[in-house]
Amino acid sequence: MNKEEKRINLILFGPPGSGKGTQAKMLEKKFDLLQISTGDLFRYELGNNTPLGQKARTFMDKGQLVPDEVTVAMLKNKIEQHPHVKGYIFDGFPRTLPQSEALDELLSTRGESVDSLISLVVDDEEIVNRLLERGKTSGRKDDANEGVIRERINVYKSETAPVYAYYDQKGCAQEIAGIGEIDEINSRLNELISSLA
Ligand code: ADP
Repeated sequence: MNKEEKRINLILFGPPGSGKGTQAKMLEKKFDLLQISTGDLFRYELGNNTPLGQKARTFMDKGQLVPDEVTVAMLKNKIEQHPHVKGYIFDGFPRTLPQSEALDELLSTRGESVDSLISLVVDDEEIVNRLLERGKTSGRKDDANEGVIRERINVYKSETAPVYAYYDQKGCAQEIAGIGEIDEINSRLNELISSLA
């Protein structure tokens, strides 16, 4: 396979409010990849009041994770709808070890794997401030309440942080500073991803 044909699968990782969504949208354009945000997919279902949305709402409103089997089924569905892209940027997924194993399994059926997990590092107080600020305009219930924000940070530490170690053991996890100007962080990401292609 020549260089142009190499597919690339990235996980953009980090706590809530670390800028994953903002950066994923910029990277999607630059590297011609498909962003898959499980949070956005759930909000779409919620907005349309589908059975899946109704189920997800109870967890999201409390700042808890939607059960793995529900999340993985939705992700698998999305991937299957877009098999011919140059690669994926997973944003907000995987968020647990079982989700990581399910993702690896899904990719391995196509002879692929995760090329890189990039973690945006942002401290807790900055996160709380950013999310409270976003909550003023986003209309997101989970951003409007400091208790729910702190619960999401706790869930990130207990359930999601082990995902970093899981991919680190495979030698493909990296951290970059998530503090600073959006463009500055984007440059750091561009450089890192260009070195993978
Ligand atoms: P943030 O990164 O700001 O917390 P997201 O949009 O990624 O926001 O997620 C919002 C909510 O959607 C999460 O708090 C959780 O309830 C649910 N969610 C999103 N992705 C997942 C996932 N991979 N597994 C379980 N729940 C998820």
